[in-house]
Amino acid sequence: MVVVMRPGAAVEEIDAVVARVEGAGGSAFVSRGVQRTIVGLVGDVVAFQGLNLRAMPGVVEVVRVSKPYKLVSRENHPDASTITVGARGDVHIGPDTFVLIAGPCAVETAEQTFEAAEMAKAAGATMLRGGAYKPRTSPYAFQGLGVKGLEILAEARERTGLPVVTEVVDPKDVAVVAEHADMLQIGTRNMQNFPLLQAVGGVRKPVMLKRGLTATYEEWLMAAEYIAQRGNLDIVLCERGIRTFETATRNTLDVSAVPMVHALSHLPIVVDPSHSAGKRELVVPLTRAAIAVGADAVMIDVHADPTAALCDGPQALYGDELAEVARACRELPSMLGRTVAVR
Ligand code: PEP
Ligand code: MN
Repeated sequence: MVVVMRPGAAVEEIDAVVARVEGAGGSAFVSRGVQRTIVGLVGDVVAFQGLNLRAMPGVVEVVRVSKPYKLVSRENHPDASTITVGARGDVHIGPDTFVLIAGPCAVETAEQTFEAAEMAKAAGATMLRGGAYKPRTSPYAFQGLGVKGLEILAEARERTGLPVVTEVVDPKDVAVVAEHADMLQIGTRNMQNFPLLQAVGGVRKPVMLKRGLTATYEEWLMAAEYIAQRGNLDIVLCERGIRTFETATRNTLDVSAVPMVHALSHLPIVVDPSHSAGKRELVVPLTRAAIAVGADAVMIDVHADPTAALCDGPQALYGDELAEVARACRELPSMLGRTVAVR
């Protein structure tokens, strides 16, 4: 951290800054320029943040030079992480692999879930998605089957062998979701639900953290830091489109997020083209874009009858469209150096 003093700051003002930093166990190095003086701080940045230096007389600016997130940052962990999912430990999300995750937006019935799971498996997906707890904009919309939905997902895993990722929306449900699922999803609307982040930080299952509708990369990585800080570093980020002025698509897929997040963090990143676009005809091209910018996985909505889906039917793929997604997931990642792509 660097403290910038106002031009002509008094010696007493500079000394007071130094004394406060040293009082907190840090070191301060004063650099006197012709115009102004800056004070460089060495030590525990978190402790410095509590010193309220910006409010001290003569201080015009306090500039952070290292990232405010530590555990998830590349600065402290230069190698990209690979996250292993499933009881058999055979799904790896990281820099060498490419993973296709597919399934229904919501678990509606056992039959509909098993059908979608079979479609996912037939296409070559190695993970199943599906929501048992649905965070809907309208309180009148289908809210998900809850524990019954988790049981259906567990049965779909038995039938297909595909590990399951499913959303948890309430800290009190974290234990039951962790008991049934292989990966816990934190949805867009809960990216800054800090008690929920802390709760999933306490379980021994990987977490998929979706980006908030209007979250910056730093806010998103700080949210991941909440999970990591509680001891769970098995985190996969998910770019699912952000809110912009454009209304033709449901959200705008921020393709820059993939290389930016890879540069800032060692965590893998999944792209969800379905929730980004909100339109099935965009899912194949956005999947190709996601692979091209270096995504580690994609997560796709499928439904045997999208016209009857209780949630997000317009973005759900039919089987033949999922096959087209899978073809991109098989062919393109290997051109970019990934040795294990979709089967
Ligand atoms: C979902 O993946 O089912 C979902 C609700 O997505 P998001 O949180 O990105 O809207
Ligand atoms: Mn959805």
